[in-house]
Parts: sequence; structure tokens; C-alpha cells
Amino acid sequence: MGDLSDLYQEVILDHNRRPRNFRVLEQASHHAEGFNPLCGDRLNLFLAIDGDVIADVAFQGSGCAISKASASLMTDAVKGQTVGAAQSLFARFHQMVTTPPDRAVEDLGKLSVFAGVREFPVRVKCASLAWHTLKAALERNEKASTE
Ligand code: ZN
Repeated sequence: MGDLSDLYQEVILDHNRRPRNFRVLEQASHHAEGFNPLCGDRLNLFLAIDGDVIADVAFQGSGCAISKASASLMTDAVKGQTVGAAQSLFARFHQMVTTPPDRAVEDLGKLSVFAGVREFPVRVKCASLAWHTLKAALERNEKASTE
């Protein structure tokens, strides 16, 4: 973890220690299992979609601090959003973490703590895992991999 600035580390470590929405959702309408073979991060994502709205979202899993913190912040960000808004946020997050380090990126509020990972390609997979798993769940794919 010596590769991100102190502020970012603080947010990431806080969400790693006390992940939000870290539980199994019994009444899930959508589910996917994500795996990042490069780091060994695994997570199970559960969605309760009511009409067009993500009424509830939760995850369980194990992995590095970045993957867990990203899942925690992702679930906070999409809860209560429409499916379309969540898909748009996925696209913007993906663009933020894959833009070359010397270019400016969109400010995504709390999610911007992950902008620093774009300098570390291996970490991009850790930060993106939860989002790829979200996309898979929305598309009714049971498995997601960052490979
Ligand atoms: Zn990882």
C-alpha cells in the first residue's frame, strides 16, 4: 500500500476495516461472483432491484484493501440509483481508472480516491473488480473476471 497518497490510503483503509453493506442479501433478485486472478480478490455481489431501481445492494468476499474498499464505496454509490445511472457510473469509473496518469479525469466525489490506481495497472484490476461484478449481475451473468 505504499503506492497511494496518504489521504487516499486513509479512505481506503477505513472502508477496508469497516466495509459498508458487507452482508448477504437474502432477497436478492440479481447476483454475481467476481474474481481477480492477478491478486486473488473474490467477491459475491447481491442486488435487490425493484422496477428500475437498485433498492438494496450488498457484498461479501475477501481480498486486498483496495478491492474491498472499492466494493464498499461502489455499493454506497449505486444504492437507490436506477439501473441506467449505475451503468453510467460504471463507465465513468472505468474511464477514470484507465485514463493515462498525466491526463485530467472527471471528479467522481468519494470514488475519486481510486483515481490514483491508474498509475498502477495491477491495482486497476483490484479497484475495478466490484464494478465488473456489478455489470455482470445487472446483465444476469453469474461470473465476472477482471481477465
Ligand atoms: Zn487486489
